[in-house]
Amino acid sequence: MNADVKQDLLPSFEQFIDNGWYILGNQVNQFEGEYASYCSTSYCAGVANGLDALIIALKTLEIGPGDEVIVPSNTYIASWLAVSYVGATPVPVEPRISTYNINPDLIEAAITPKTKAIMPVHLYGQCCEMDAIMAIANKHQLSVVEDNAQSQGATYNGKITGSFGHINGTSFYPGKNLGAYGDAGAITSNNEALIKKAFTIRNYGSNKKYYNEIKGINSRLDELQAGFLSIKLRHLNNWNQQREAIAKQYTRELTGIGDVITPVIADNATSVFHLFVIRTEKREALQQFLTEQGIGTLIHYPLPPHLQEAYSDLGFKKGDFPLAEKIADTCLSLPIYPGLTEQEVSFICDTIKSFF
Ligand SMILES: *Cc1c(COP(=O)(O)O)cnc(C)c1O
Repeated sequence: MNADVKQDLLPSFEQFIDNGWYILGNQVNQFEGEYASYCSTSYCAGVANGLDALIIALKTLEIGPGDEVIVPSNTYIASWLAVSYVGATPVPVEPRISTYNINPDLIEAAITPKTKAIMPVHLYGQCCEMDAIMAIANKHQLSVVEDNAQSQGATYNGKITGSFGHINGTSFYPGKNLGAYGDAGAITSNNEALIKKAFTIRNYGSNKKYYNEIKGINSRLDELQAGFLSIKLRHLNNWNQQREAIAKQYTRELTGIGDVITPVIADNATSVFHLFVIRTEKREALQQFLTEQGIGTLIHYPLPPHLQEAYSDLGFKKGDFPLAEKIADTCLSLPIYPGLTEQEVSFICDTIKSFF
């Protein structure tokens, strides 16, 4: 997928070497403007990675010890870790089994006097039911921090991810839909005060060199990565469309095969298919069969956060979040990336049919 941008990246690299400016310069400024515009937000702050983006977003809202943040029970652990790193407690809410995104109907029951924010995660590329989530947040005066790491470009009712929450984080980890050539991330927001705080926090708590207003951290987006991301951003919509076409073909060819469950997209939502996740009770055997046929698959994710050793302190046990556990036990991610051909997708589907 990166072959078609290589020709553009090389001059950018040469320019970077010649400029000799490596940290917080024009390239970062420019990319921040471009990414804010892509997300239809007023502001963007580049940071070092997606986890930091979420941590800094929570810090700008002054969420900390004693506070609770509602998170999905079936997300990548980074969403929970961001909440833990600011000293707050992640409060899991189960997804809809159809879309794998947080079920808005279950959120209110999880709200307590300590709840400060909701962190919807647009899992596998599909935008969450943001109208319902924002309505609950407004009613209870909670902040919303979108975890937009897997869903750059997805929409709900025509509005794009990264533009719903009060302040939102995304990741440009190389494997994401918009990937850098190393670690990178960004924060998006329409709130000037919050984004100003984010700029301060990411740079040691300083706006004026060697004068520190708060105890910040070092989490800056590299100039080099920003330059590369600017070039790749121009291709993002095209790459997302390729992913959607592949997903359509998979869905068409795999519907009704064995006990395979293909992804469901909620009404009014779109997905940019960061992953194409099917479910089957025969997951282990199917994965092994596909491996033997030379088809690489992955499991996102084999163990939900509440059962991870890292979260043993919260005292959850098996059975506490049955939908998250069911997804973990049955999900399988099929190959999906721009450039994967129709023939290759057909071969994968035929192989799955021959297994069943
Ligand atoms: C990748 C990812 C992150 C973290 O991004 P990094 O850049 O790897 O720190 C956070 N949340 C979700 C859902 C992700 O998939």
